Amino acid sequence: MSDRVPVLNAPAPELLARLTEIVGRANAIVDPDTQATYLREWRERYVGRTPIVLRPQSTDEVASILALANAARVGVVPQGGNTGLVGGQIPSGSGREIVLSLTRLNRIRGVDKPTSSMTVEAGVTLATARAAAEANGRLFPLSLPSEGTCSIGGNLATNAGGIGVLAHGNARQLTLGIEAVLADGRIWNGLKALRKDNTGYDLRDLLIGSEGTLGIITAATLKLVPRPREVATAFVALPSLDAVLSLFELASDRGGASLTAFEFLSQRSLAFVIRHVAGARLPFDGENPWYVLLDISGHADNGGAPSIAEAILASAVDSGIAKDAIVAQSLSQSAKLWHLRESASEAQKFEGGSIKHDVSVPVGSIPEFIARADALIETLCPGARPVAFGHFGDGNVHYNISQPPGMDRAQFLAKWEEVSDAVHALVAGMDGSISAEHGIGQMKRTSLCRAKSAVELDMMRAIKTALDPNGILNPGKLL
Ligand SMILES: Cc1cc2nc3c(=O)[nH]c(=O)nc-3n(C[C@H](O)[C@H](O)[C@H](O)COP(=O)(O)OP(=O)(O)OC[C@H]3O[C@@H](n4cnc5c(N)ncnc54)[C@H](O)[C@@H]3O)c2cc1C
Repeated sequence: MSDRVPVLNAPAPELLARLTEIVGRANAIVDPDTQATYLREWRERYVGRTPIVLRPQSTDEVASILALANAARVGVVPQGGNTGLVGGQIPSGSGREIVLSLTRLNRIRGVDKPTSSMTVEAGVTLATARAAAEANGRLFPLSLPSEGTCSIGGNLATNAGGIGVLAHGNARQLTLGIEAVLADGRIWNGLKALRKDNTGYDLRDLLIGSEGTLGIITAATLKLVPRPREVATAFVALPSLDAVLSLFELASDRGGASLTAFEFLSQRSLAFVIRHVAGARLPFDGENPWYVLLDISGHADNGGAPSIAEAILASAVDSGIAKDAIVAQSLSQSAKLWHLRESASEAQKFEGGSIKHDVSVPVGSIPEFIARADALIETLCPGARPVAFGHFGDGNVHYNISQPPGMDRAQFLAKWEEVSDAVHALVAGMDGSISAEHGIGQMKRTSLCRAKSAVELDMMRAIKTALDPNGILNPGKLL
């Protein structure tokens, strides 16, 4: 299949006028200062330009916008909370693409308790969706540090992961149905709340994880689960990554389905948090090479969860797997422990430039991956500081590298491609993935071509061409 790049047009003034009519002047942003927050992402790695940011309020408005853009062959870049980490939500620097912000599609359409589901619009923030579930005695288990800002549409478009994947799966596993607008403006209502539906190709799963390149998600029916009645949070210090793996096996054996989170942090990532995040402190004395944060959840309010956690920790300490461990004694202590993990990314900002990787390998290979990656980094950039943390139980490592102290930031960041290529090659050689949860966006397009086989790339391009023949949806992203 040819690698056809569609030719897109800059929007003509008449088109801009018609688009403005659809959303109203107040929601058609052309002033550069007001546009700025939509054109720059969290890490400030990607900065784009646009003639207009459109803020529709309904699925019908989205449909009208796409019908016009498609007819005029003008690129459209969907954006939710703008917390994506691979530049997918930022337009190119050409100034020819329209930014479509979905944040005003922010209604909770309904909660269905018997079906344990909830239908929300794409612009609802993850935190609001979780609060709505909680208000109805249920849990929506997707949980990310960015949940106050990121949106359900963005979560589905990136198939977001986070800390609940171990027990409940990623965004794909938590979605029953979606509503989306196709490139030509047709609306697909797939808002079913069925647990079983074997009627051919799974269009819902096709759109989830498509990063705005196959359709605009306007609403979703989400799966809810019972809220645990008790959660025991434990924080454990360990001497090595092999010990972290042993603890994971122990906690999985003893905890079974009640093990709902298993996260890890290197000593360096925790040191950065303690140094830069106000109020952050270690729950015990001394430095240890690795730390684990785990949750045991229970559905009976009878002390079962803390007992399981205590038993796991006692066994880990007795057998020499763990050096120190505590179980949080209150909700506020648990929140403080989780804050240490959730601040890991933010804290790294204060240590100069960082080159980031979101990769996965089989869980049992994490110790080998990190040992080999550390050696690789020391060869490529002596003195650079690997900062590893992430979702150990999912095999997902955020393998970030902070610049050597004192090195020029720009000089270090100029090594991004060389360093990433080497880390991604290592991951590929270990049957891993170059993007565990953040997606491809602009950042990993070239790497994707190396990571996928020719057959896979052909299938992906065929799907793109079928659903978006003019290539207007999020041009230059993913493929
Ligand atoms: C501090 C921090 C921590 C994070 N932690 C995690 C984590 O643990 N796990 C994880 O998976 N991610 C994490 N992320 C990344 C990010 O929060 C997720 O990718 C999130 O799902 C993006 O949602 P958003 O609404 O901000 O999407 P945006 O950033 O606005 O967009 C992301 C992508 O989705 C597309 N898109 C957005 N809305 C729609 C829509 N309605 N229809 C079609 N396409 C759309 C965009 O075009 C873009 O390609 C983190 C980010 C930050 C800043």
